[in-house]
Amino acid sequence: MYRKMRGLSRCLVVSALFLMPLLGVRAEERLRVVATTTQAADLVRAIGGERVALTALMSGGVDPHQYKPTASDIAAMNAAQAVIYSGLNLEGQFEKVFEALGQRMVRTYALSEPVLQAGFLLEEAHGVLDPHFWFDPRNWMLAAEGLAELLAELDAPNAAFYRANAAAYSAQLEALYGWAHSALTDSAIPEAKRVLITSHDAFRYFGDAFGWRVRGIQGISTVAEASVSDIQAVAELLAAEGIEVIFIESSVPRATVEAVIAAARARGVEVRLGVRALYSDAMGDPDKFGGTYLEMIVHNVITILQSFGYKVPPLPARLALSLPEDFQAR
Ligand SMILES: [Zn+2]
Repeated sequence: MYRKMRGLSRCLVVSALFLMPLLGVRAEERLRVVATTTQAADLVRAIGGERVALTALMSGGVDPHQYKPTASDIAAMNAAQAVIYSGLNLEGQFEKVFEALGQRMVRTYALSEPVLQAGFLLEEAHGVLDPHFWFDPRNWMLAAEGLAELLAELDAPNAAFYRANAAAYSAQLEALYGWAHSALTDSAIPEAKRVLITSHDAFRYFGDAFGWRVRGIQGISTVAEASVSDIQAVAELLAAEGIEVIFIESSVPRATVEAVIAAARARGVEVRLGVRALYSDAMGDPDKFGGTYLEMIVHNVITILQSFGYKVPPLPARLALSLPEDFQAR
């Protein structure tokens, strides 16, 4: 009996030691990290977990092309060990702040950097690199691995933790990519009809990854306003190719999309809005479906399929997502 109890108590001590990290990391041991966009913040959560004290600057629905850092954003960045941003001039109003941070020895890291190194960035017509690289989940895997390496460097004793998180998350991204690719290239969708028209040119990587042609009313930034000729050109495309659906983006005002619908109608073509707005440069709020990267891609793919009346295949179990009722496979 005595021996048995001693065995049991030793067993309890051992499991208590194993459980200790799960009881929470003390605040002063956490890495202080700031993330600019909603996507960047989500990736920091996925890879850094409870070992990171995260300050997320932009909330759901905020346009990062236009967002200007506030005084409290700048204070948070100055106090951080690392600032994680998307890059390629997506956060166009942050340039001066990033320069100043460099002089203060705050580490800044662009999630686009490993994608650039791998040579997977798309060039825009004028030689400018398209910043919306996250819309190909295979690019997001590179970003996840790059972020894990950065956190491993800043917090070497926990390097294995960050790398294990990146490996698990990459496996989910792989499953996401496979599901989205087979959903959007299903033989029921005629190739000529695989055309995605949205407010601005945020979906070129998405189209590249999943075999759809894309066209934005505005270019790759929302800073320059759409001109009358942009609106007419898209209306002409809709009419010429018989495309029946156009999508609003959650972070871009809907006025230009409505102008295109009116211009198409003037040509005798009825175009309808997608059943929901797509998430493009900002994800949804955390309490909505679309508040994480995985949910955002699933949200967009299902919204596209439902808007055209195509079948929604069941989600891979590995994604561990439960769909709201109006998204469910039918
Ligand atoms: Zn954009």
